[in-house]
Amino acid sequence: MAAPGFDRVGQTAIDVILEQQQRHPVGGGSERLHLLKDVQAVRLFLDEALDAASLALDTAQARQQILLVLGVAVAEIGAGALGRHTAGQYGRLPGTGQSSDRLNRGRMGRMSDLERHDLVAPLERALVVISHPDDAEFGAAATIAHLTGLGVRVDYVVTTDGGKGTEDPSVTPEQLSTTRVAEQRAAADILNVSEIVHLGYPDGYLTPSLDLRRDIVRQIRRYRPDLVITQNPQRRLDHNPFIGHPDHLATGEATLAAVYPAARDHLNFPELWRDEKLEPWKVRQVLLTGVEEPNLWLDIGDTFEIGIRAILAHESQVDQETVADRMRERARLVGEPQGIGLAQAFASIILE
Ligand SMILES: [Zn+2]
Repeated sequence: MAAPGFDRVGQTAIDVILEQQQRHPVGGGSERLHLLKDVQAVRLFLDEALDAASLALDTAQARQQILLVLGVAVAEIGAGALGRHTAGQYGRLPGTGQSSDRLNRGRMGRMSDLERHDLVAPLERALVVISHPDDAEFGAAATIAHLTGLGVRVDYVVTTDGGKGTEDPSVTPEQLSTTRVAEQRAAADILNVSEIVHLGYPDGYLTPSLDLRRDIVRQIRRYRPDLVITQNPQRRLDHNPFIGHPDHLATGEATLAAVYPAARDHLNFPELWRDEKLEPWKVRQVLLTGVEEPNLWLDIGDTFEIGIRAILAHESQVDQETVADRMRERARLVGEPQGIGLAQAFASIILE
């Protein structure tokens, strides 16, 4: 039942929708929703989602609220109309009847305002900075295989010793760390990764300290990468079960701080320049794994299988039976809205 005053909100909604449709076709992916045809459905969605009576008093407020839910409306109506998978992973907010990933989808709806990135070119060297042996493979194995396949040199920096990732009480941290260093080398060999530097900070206790930043700056200046791949430094609070391992947050933060400005400025950690003769270096692009709002989707159809082989090399960490199916489903869900069969998604930052 439409609330009193909804006609005014409805007209505002149609105006906003038509404006948006003119600016950028909404819906994304290979199949776009024809909004004009579906205006009535969008109006019904807004009718449920908005307090029309109060919004009708303030057209500016109505426009703002309508914009916020428009991306969600399009996704949900599009799913019904086109039979595409857009079902929320995170259930429904209690008491509202609204999907709890609504706000997340709302942000996705604004993605078209962001510049969609590609990899910088020419791309000769990439450095992957991660917390634990297996993070590079879980976050980006197929992408790394894609890069080495293109002739890009890829090296790794692993910030912790990985000495806590077990439930087996008979294994010591030293034993586990030794096992995982070997597993990391085996996985890297499958992906044609060149060198691996283990910084050896204790697993689980990492902070984005100046020592860690300096250690990462040292490796950036040694390997002089065009591209750095690292972990999302922001804790996710979007009801996603991946709330963020503290080591991942610390590695992401220290790496971004190392990329800018420390690696490019010789007066940051001057001992690196003065004593170790490491010249400043400007990274041109950073890719973050595990982000809420990606702006780069890479087609990993050709390298998915080799990526799985690299993940399976982490024998102490993965369930050999289920991991391939789990990763395939994840890549499919990431790629599908973009019209890509299997994809890995990143937040890309261009620094040049
Ligand atoms: Zn990890």
